[in-house]
Amino acid sequence: MTVTVDAGRCIACGMCAYAAPEVFRIVGRASTVIAQPEGWDRRAADAANGCPVNAIKIKR
Ligand code: SF4
Repeated sequence: MTVTVDAGRCIACGMCAYAAPEVFRIVGRASTVIAQPEGWDRRAADAANGCPVNAIKIKR
């Protein structure tokens, strides 16, 4: 699984960083992937599903 965040879409709501802090962190005005979700796949997928602007993409 590879996770990316489209910083142009992200509104920095913080939901993904709350749901999967091992993977996402708010840096400035956008979420940043700080580590790929090895072992955290489900939480990363939940974060992607919960993103209000569909800024999180997952490749499996
Ligand atoms: S949930 Fe989506 S909009 Fe919110 S911080 Fe994460 S990537 Fe950005």
